Amino acid sequence: MKVHEYQAKGFFAQYGLPVDRSILCHSVDEAVEAYRKLGLEKVVVKAQVHTGGRGKAGGVKLAASEDEVRRHAGNILGMNIKGFTVDRILIGEAVDIASEYYVSILVDRRTKSPILMLSREGGMEIEKVAKETPEKIIKIAIDPLVGLPVYKAREAAFALFDDMAQVKQAIPLFQNLYRLFVEKDASLAEINPLIVDKSGDLKAIDAKMTFDNNALFRHPDVAELNEPTEEEKKELYAKEKGFSYVNLGGNIGCMVNGAGLAMATMDMIKLYGGDPANFLDIGGSSNPQKIVEAMKLLLSDRHVKVVLINIFGGITRCDDVAKGLIEAFKELDTSMPIVIRLTGTNESEGRALLQGTKFTVGTTMADAGHKAVEIAAKL
Ligand code: GDP
Ligand code: MN
Repeated sequence: MKVHEYQAKGFFAQYGLPVDRSILCHSVDEAVEAYRKLGLEKVVVKAQVHTGGRGKAGGVKLAASEDEVRRHAGNILGMNIKGFTVDRILIGEAVDIASEYYVSILVDRRTKSPILMLSREGGMEIEKVAKETPEKIIKIAIDPLVGLPVYKAREAAFALFDDMAQVKQAIPLFQNLYRLFVEKDASLAEINPLIVDKSGDLKAIDAKMTFDNNALFRHPDVAELNEPTEEEKKELYAKEKGFSYVNLGGNIGCMVNGAGLAMATMDMIKLYGGDPANFLDIGGSSNPQKIVEAMKLLLSDRHVKVVLINIFGGITRCDDVAKGLIEAFKELDTSMPIVIRLTGTNESEGRALLQGTKFTVGTTMADAGHKAVEIAAKL
């Protein structure tokens, strides 16, 4: 789960990390008021969206007067950054940057532990640094049983700074960041850039945190910050209904009973040159209500052009499934083309029931797959 910069900075402040003073605003007027309240000449106006690269997109601007605050706030509010519309901005104290560094803690698959990742080349070009000069990124593995004791934090601080003035500040900073990372079950805690200002002090002027969804139940303070995207809302709805659903962005909606069969169905669609819209396991049941709910989920995805229903009748009998489908589609008013493949117990009875209906019936999984891909390609 992602949080906004201002929320991450809230956690940083709770853990004693140095952050700049800032005020969250939802309108231009609030931004001007915040500017007056801060009482500083220079401020920074920053878009708050669940994506990075705001600086490059024009979502971070310095302002040195009320007029400039008004202008930048007006431009940034409503701006679209990588598909996210800006509905909030942060007005923060503008700091005089002497140099920018990169600091993060994340879970590393290779070492199977948290690592502290550092670079002297922090700032907006960090992706380029990582790609072109990976030797400039330092990785320090943290043994979770040992944590980040002073000697290790000092080693890290010396990797980043030459001057004792900064080393001394960096040691508790790394330790506090690690404590925050562990105590809140984060999967990422990133400061980019961590800056040294003109008086030699360290400050986190950006903050990014993501949290482990599976641990949210023990962090109500984090969970309440959740702002699910439209896709995530659908996934939550599906979960409530007892389905497992993952949106994949293609145009062939899939309704399948069983996770393994669902995976195989998606592979098959890809093999035949199509694009699955989703993974959807509806479990073992022929209950028409369940089919209706699953179909509603698929139909709410505007990318879906055809639905492939792939059912293996084991304990669930195919004729029951066919009856369930016919029942369900009486309730559903849709012109969506539907391809069905039924196999297993009572499959011939099931297929017989579907004769003469508007459904396209596939004889085998491959046949149904080809038919779905063909229909999607024509539409
Ligand atoms: P991001 O592009 O989404 O990572 O947003 P950041 O918060 O990292 O801001 C982008 C860049 O804007 C930073 O790398 C800084 O160079 C610059 N910036 C941000 N805040 C300030 C500030 O207070 N003063 C100055 N001079 N530059 C800032
Ligand atoms: Mn940044």
